Amino acid sequence: MSGLSASKSDPVVIIGGGVIGLSIAYELACRGQQVHVVERGTEFGKEASWAGAGILPPANPETALDPLEKLRGISHRLHPEWAERLQSETGIDTGFRRCGGIYLARKQGEAASLAGYMSLLRQEGIQAEAVDQDALLALEPTLDPDQFCAAYLLPDELTLRNPRHVKALLRACELKNVQLTADCEIHGFDTAGEQITGLQSSQGPITGSRFCLAAGAWSSQILQQVSDIPTGIVPIRGQMLLFDAPPRLITHILNEGSRYLVPRADGKILAGSCEEEVGFEKGTTTEMLEQLEDFAYSVVPALKEYEVTLSWSGLRPGSFDGVPYIGKVPQVDNLFMASGHFRSGIHLSTGTAIWMADLLEGKPMPSALQHFSLIR
Ligand SMILES: Cc1cc2nc3c(=O)[nH]c(=O)nc-3n(C[C@H](O)[C@H](O)[C@H](O)COP(=O)(O)OP(=O)(O)OC[C@H]3O[C@@H](n4cnc5c(N)ncnc54)[C@H](O)[C@@H]3O)c2cc1C
Repeated sequence: MSGLSASKSDPVVIIGGGVIGLSIAYELACRGQQVHVVERGTEFGKEASWAGAGILPPANPETALDPLEKLRGISHRLHPEWAERLQSETGIDTGFRRCGGIYLARKQGEAASLAGYMSLLRQEGIQAEAVDQDALLALEPTLDPDQFCAAYLLPDELTLRNPRHVKALLRACELKNVQLTADCEIHGFDTAGEQITGLQSSQGPITGSRFCLAAGAWSSQILQQVSDIPTGIVPIRGQMLLFDAPPRLITHILNEGSRYLVPRADGKILAGSCEEEVGFEKGTTTEMLEQLEDFAYSVVPALKEYEVTLSWSGLRPGSFDGVPYIGKVPQVDNLFMASGHFRSGIHLSTGTAIWMADLLEGKPMPSALQHFSLIR
């Protein structure tokens, strides 16, 4: 406990400056709220949010069959609008594009499960067209069609470039006078009864009226300082590599199981990824990078001619059921959490920002939010 006082005029303090924290800050600032984002790193957005592939698979909020799909649908609708607003406010092109995605199956079993998934998407009103070998070759001439027994085109799959998106969010927050404090680690809470009165940080005490935990894979550790709710967010490492290919070698995102190739407008192609439970250890391994290269060559043999210029890893915030936590922390009046977005944090960031800003402003919430509760 401490005697730090918090008044309603104090800002909303967001712990963690990744895509989730910055999107919430941006949304709140657009609504005229005072916001302070506190980030442990020397730069904002350099953890999972920097490392991700930026794939935004299609989703439809009106026909979604479960609350997570609903959030995905809401987020999906918001991305084009956010990309446009961020560009006009900051001058930064986030690399947002409607490039479309192709989903591929090599074996009959994979084809059967892909067929089931595509039928589900169609029930939700999402365009998913089966393509035969000739059509596949017409869409992607450098792909080896003989490798695949089924393929589907999803025209509404979108993409953005994570580092640019985060940079644009950061700049938009600056322009809206959000207080941004880097190199500042939160290590505890000051409380009075069931209220948080302030945060203990490496730069001294920080006050606020309401607090939102958005520290990605680290959120559970921080939450434990003030609550015994077992959210159990675990870091799941993903590795990626980058080919220095010429523009338009491929033009769609190519998905096979949990692996993918993502073309950027400048020609560079990302290849990912994997799910590794190795604690908070970042870094790449020769074995995994070789597997990703082999995967890339098996889909697009022409990639053998191009150099791999970069590889990296990131720690996804994984929750036990793959569903993020978006809600108030029980038994703490003014602490909220938005974490655990696992493989979809970039995609879900826009919808999460709207819901969390509504929550922080005390607005009535949709019943779907129960699905994301910390005590589900
Ligand atoms: C290889 C890979 C590929 C991916 N591909 C996609 C994709 O295609 N599409 C998609 O939607 N998602 C993708 N993701 C997932 C997505 O990147 C994450 O879900 C998302 O970035 C999580 O954002 P976040 O803000 O919660 O976490 P982070 O980006 O990790 O941000 C959390 C921040 O909190 C800070 N922090 C931690 N502890 C403290 C503390 N004590 N005090 C202050 N600050 C603290 C950290 O430094 C960090 O900056 C991918 C992830 C990886 C790793």
